[in-house]
Amino acid sequence: MHHFAYRHGVLHAEGISLNDMASQVGTPFYCYSTATLTRHYEVFAQAFAGADSLICYSVKANSNLAVLKTLGQLGSGMDVVSEGELRRARAAGIAPERIVFSGVGKTREEMAFALEEGIHAFNVESEAELTALSEVAAAGGHEARIAIRVNPDIDPKTHKKISTGKAEDKFGVPYARARELYTRAAAMPGIQLRGVHMHIGSQITDLTPFGDAFALLRDLAGQLREDGHSIEFINFGGGLGVPYRGDNDVPPHPDDYARTVRAAAKDLNVRLLFEPGRMIAANAGILVTRVLYTKKGANKTFTVVDAAMNDLIRPTLYEAWHEMWPVREELRKESPQTTDVVGPVCETGDYLALDRALPPFHEGDLMAVMTAGAYGAVQSSTYNTRPLIPEVMVSGDGFAIVRPRPSFEELLGLDRIPEWLK
Ligand SMILES: *Cc1c(COP(=O)(O)O)cnc(C)c1O
Repeated sequence: MHHFAYRHGVLHAEGISLNDMASQVGTPFYCYSTATLTRHYEVFAQAFAGADSLICYSVKANSNLAVLKTLGQLGSGMDVVSEGELRRARAAGIAPERIVFSGVGKTREEMAFALEEGIHAFNVESEAELTALSEVAAAGGHEARIAIRVNPDIDPKTHKKISTGKAEDKFGVPYARARELYTRAAAMPGIQLRGVHMHIGSQITDLTPFGDAFALLRDLAGQLREDGHSIEFINFGGGLGVPYRGDNDVPPHPDDYARTVRAAAKDLNVRLLFEPGRMIAANAGILVTRVLYTKKGANKTFTVVDAAMNDLIRPTLYEAWHEMWPVREELRKESPQTTDVVGPVCETGDYLALDRALPPFHEGDLMAVMTAGAYGAVQSSTYNTRPLIPEVMVSGDGFAIVRPRPSFEELLGLDRIPEWLK
């Protein structure tokens, strides 16, 4: 469910016409809906009503400060994977005790900063990291609260580039070695064992891998308690999928996901932690682009738009599918034509859709690339010296530019000419 819909023949974001927005902001741009963000957060939170839980929104999905602040005001904590993200979460007013820190390559400087801030927990991904964290914490007179991220070797049946819980993936500690590592961790200075963590992948649309993984987590939590560790929380990670193809791929409802979680946590008397990213942000954002040209190749039709792979890399990187809606509803009545939607970047891999049956878009038409709120703007670059595109947030009948388009002066101003070239 999202709040992008046609009104009087024009696609709106909540109460705002995307036509009007495009005239004011210029294309391309990302547009986020507050009502949709709120709804997704609340549906997820509602699924765990009554349980002792902490939802730590995964900042990397969409890290705009306005998005973080919107979610923070609803009560969300944050899952961060870098000092930069931690600084964003803090800048958005998130209390440190609601922040967890994930990632296989935390530097000692990042650890020291997070300890100084007093975050809730580190998700530790290796023995080497554990040793480093112990040293940094002890040297600074801190106690690092941790969970060890366990790799259960389970296939989440998602795209290979977003699977994180198989034995060959770089993430976490092998399940079979986890118990031994907890024993070692318990003896390390500056380390306080608090929980167990798992995150098996993203865009997971089948509950079975979750159920299998969570059963292993449950067993491990039991064993760790037998070994004398105090396990206060289980962190189930993120990963719940979203419907990129409308009604054709319906992910599990958070309520069904919650049943799977509750079964795994039954009688353990633990706090439940979650790190949803995509599920909160994906449907709450769209990318609005304008058609520059249409052209006929030898045996294909191309629709050239002003957004490109540097603005939204998901189709290129993950073979992702995004629905494309005309902003002008009338276009939907015309018979579809098969086309590649491509951007101006000089790469064959620069496309937003391949061989797609779409309404006949013409020069100047606006196109909304749907479900682009997660892993969209955050992965954008300035490749081909294209300035980052603006991000706009809508709330009801109002909107604000929450990241302006940088000027070319600002973009070029990032470079420096060395003395010998002056
Ligand atoms: C990326 C990530 C998430 C969020 O995953 P989604 O599929 O967006 O919900 C959660 N936890 C960790 C450790 C991650 O790296």
